[in-house]
Amino acid sequence: MSPSRTRVALLGATGSIGTQTLDVLREAGDAFELVSIAGGQRLAELGAIAKEFNVRNVGVVSDRDAEELKRLTGSDVDIVVGAKGLSELATSGDVIVNAVVGFAGLPVTLSALAAGKRLALANKESLIAAAPLVQQVRDTPGASILPIDSEHCAIYQCLAGSTNVGHPDVRMIHLTASGGPFRGKTKEQLARVSKLEALQHPTWSMGPKITIDSSTLMNKGLEVLEASALFGIEAPRVDVVVHPQSIVHSMVEYVDGAVIAQLSLPDMRLPIAYCLGAPVRLDQGWGRMDFHASLRLDFEAPDREAFPALELAYEAARLGGAAPAWLSAANEIAVEAFLNDQISWSRIAEIVAAVLELYVACELSTMDELFDNDATARRLAHGMVTA
Ligand code: NDP
Ligand code: MG
Repeated sequence: MSPSRTRVALLGATGSIGTQTLDVLREAGDAFELVSIAGGQRLAELGAIAKEFNVRNVGVVSDRDAEELKRLTGSDVDIVVGAKGLSELATSGDVIVNAVVGFAGLPVTLSALAAGKRLALANKESLIAAAPLVQQVRDTPGASILPIDSEHCAIYQCLAGSTNVGHPDVRMIHLTASGGPFRGKTKEQLARVSKLEALQHPTWSMGPKITIDSSTLMNKGLEVLEASALFGIEAPRVDVVVHPQSIVHSMVEYVDGAVIAQLSLPDMRLPIAYCLGAPVRLDQGWGRMDFHASLRLDFEAPDREAFPALELAYEAARLGGAAPAWLSAANEIAVEAFLNDQISWSRIAEIVAAVLELYVACELSTMDELFDNDATARRLAHGMVTA
């Protein structure tokens, strides 16, 4: 192994972000070495990745999956299991890509930071649910978070000239949203939308959970909380603006009125490559802007009445403590129920709102408190799904 190669652990390797990270690694050739991977259900794909990249350390969900993977890959692979396995793998490279979906990504975020690694973070749910606990390990020498989420990667780049703690020179962050597949629909029309329609995102091809979150605008709500936790800027200073072309990935407005934006084609391989290479920009061909062709950039306010999920995220931010963890957990249960045809699209935000109504103020300072709050919110949401 050449010492100059950056060693990468890719957890959630079989998903949308995972496979696009593999594209970036293929394109980068010798600059990176994939040392660890983990996945969930798609064992054949996980085995194929291990073979292609000659990966030695692989994480799976259960002992049964470990046996199946051993059969698929032969014996020269070290297999670890479950959340403990994810924690181990999250300390195994120079850059840890957290591309797991949902709360299951928590061990990756916490272990990578506690081990002083660079965390290339796609898994927003772990940061949102565990923000106070993440802050505790973020100061570990060597630790850093580079956001893969395109809006946050944009903000990270737009903040490059703002070095002050708490960013007093920043007036607002303007988080852009495509508006999702249902932009322009009324509340009445939204009451009748189907799963198939909700899964058709106009500009991004993503995993099912975030695609549904984009259709409800909960994804943007989660991103407000994500931006607040990442950059230490309180939620009311994070504004959401609908920008259907998905070219401006977000903007930072400074107190002197200057607005810095980051533009590029909507392709997640760009922010992924940024997070892997930073501070060096990788010379990769994922698409260039053509300013000589006609280019239209539209901006409009989101419809907060038709898409109540957005306001729920601001409410969770106002409540503070464990409320963001409740919001995210209830949303995971509701989205899963919608994907399993148990509830209608409109019920997703209704269930999250009803769970948040039951929230009892509680600070989060230990893992036990986090798991208790997560479990309570899930139980309440489950009850509403089956009621
Ligand atoms: P996918 O559903 O496509 O992929 C999720 C990945 O997580 C898969 O590799 C899945 O494995 C794996 N996984 C699920 N549960 C576990 C578990 N318990 N242990 C280990 N691995 C597990 O999701 P996306 O790639 O779309 O999203 C991943 C994260 O990135 C989400 O938090 C999302 O919000 C965020 N994100 C995604 C964007 C996108 O463009 N897709 C954009 C911005 C953020 P398997 O498939 O084998 O079951
Ligand atoms: Mg995003």
